[in-house]
Amino acid sequence: MDEKNIQKSRIIIVSNRLPVILKLTEDGKTEVEKGAGGLVTAMAPVLKNRNGTWIGWPGYVQEAGVDDYMLPAIQTATSGYRVKSVMLNSDELKNYYEGFSNSILWPLFHGFTDKCIFLPEYWTSYQDVNKKFALTVCKNADDPDFIWVHDYQLILVGAQLRKMHKRNRMGFFLHIPFPPIDTFIRCPWRFELLLAMLEYDIIGFHTILSKRNFIGCIKKIIQDARIDAKIAFDETVSELKFKNRVVRIGVFPISIDYNEFSLHAWDSDVYKRSKEIRKNAPGTKILLGVDRLDYTKGIPEKLKAFKQFLTRFPKFHKKIHFIQLVVPSRREITAYADLKLKIEQLVGEINGIFSTNAWLPVQYMFRNLGRNELISLYRACDIGFITPLKDGMNLVAKEYCACNIDEKGVLILSEFAGAAQQFYQDAILANPHDIEGTAMAIHRAFNMPLEEKNQRMRNLREKIKNKDVFWWVNSFLNTAIEKNLSNFPQVDEYFPDEPTANLGR
Ligand code: UDP
Repeated sequence: MDEKNIQKSRIIIVSNRLPVILKLTEDGKTEVEKGAGGLVTAMAPVLKNRNGTWIGWPGYVQEAGVDDYMLPAIQTATSGYRVKSVMLNSDELKNYYEGFSNSILWPLFHGFTDKCIFLPEYWTSYQDVNKKFALTVCKNADDPDFIWVHDYQLILVGAQLRKMHKRNRMGFFLHIPFPPIDTFIRCPWRFELLLAMLEYDIIGFHTILSKRNFIGCIKKIIQDARIDAKIAFDETVSELKFKNRVVRIGVFPISIDYNEFSLHAWDSDVYKRSKEIRKNAPGTKILLGVDRLDYTKGIPEKLKAFKQFLTRFPKFHKKIHFIQLVVPSRREITAYADLKLKIEQLVGEINGIFSTNAWLPVQYMFRNLGRNELISLYRACDIGFITPLKDGMNLVAKEYCACNIDEKGVLILSEFAGAAQQFYQDAILANPHDIEGTAMAIHRAFNMPLEEKNQRMRNLREKIKNKDVFWWVNSFLNTAIEKNLSNFPQVDEYFPDEPTANLGR
């Protein structure tokens, strides 16, 4: 590895949102807090060490007219590195963010093509806003800086920067899945999106499947691209040669700050609260679902599987309690408001059929929980029930295991979550479309012998600990900055840890 080069290059992170949370106080003022996600935790030290800058939208529209007092507060909340805001107006928010990003790319990339609204004005706005981000990057980047662009909202930033004659090394990480060719090809702007991605020097995906889908699209849609696969830094990295340029394509499964979660789970307040949660459901095993309100998360299917479990196995009535937390999200989009109604109807139906004076089968919460409460739930519950129809990774699955410090929990995980690529041996895999099969997965988790639970949970926790979010940042940056991959072995295509369907497991 070229250590000198790594030391020298500053880093610029570009993401749709800046790593801050805006909160409204009781007297109507807005306060700024530092973001708490894994990405922020992992990036902050890298940015501090490398004199870095984070560029993004601060989370309020330009018309709100609050920029003047807000910007210094944002800088204070993110002390240690610079932040630069890209302001968006309400039209841009509607067309670029709710429109192209969340009503085209989000459903398309997750395979929900019937939810895509391919409006040309969304595409126009997406191009304009990506250019706006690129201009801010251009003003703030020197030649040796490494520019790392994040996620589906900003695919075109790299290509825009090339048009502005920026020759920096640039990387892109896609935090959602990349779809197969027969889905991707429906997008009216498929060429433009793919060609823009090829302007980066490195592209990262969570899973081998996404990488393989991307390469499949390139092979079909873009002529003259040649692919060589190599193994570098313990993961698959392919090199794609296109128009005399080399683009690296790698698999880097994102993760969490394992130590932070598992230490927090030892906290005495968390211990007390987790005891209370257990006391409220005496003599039952607790099943836990934690999902953002999103059609990709498979919440109705999960409720149907629970209903099927109760229908099929009356002997488990009063012996199981299902806590489903749904975190509010994107309610301005109609599909999300409809989904909320559907979930609430199913919860009512199940409780209506099965509840007794002493037993409520489903406890449904629709809100954002504080960190202590969430970790207490993770610690208290016997079965993590995480069955998205499609998910880039699913960090909740990792957080549940990290907080399961007694190692007595069981993880039921969808085959279609990115995390299944890493956990297929030790989680109980479920196909969320198969209601009967998912009901049987609950049965299996409920009856799993303690020794087996211990062994599986230990393995899961070990995997998360070994590849935490710091590993993720380092492996992406090392692969991005490493000049020469010729030392690494050439392979046909190497697919480690490939998930298999849950046939008979
Ligand atoms: N989460 C949260 N508040 C809650 C419940 C969950 O902030 O009340 C967090 C959770 O800790 C996790 C994230 O939301 O880090 C969800 O990430 P995931 O990858 O599972 O799904 P996403 O919402 O990104 O699709």
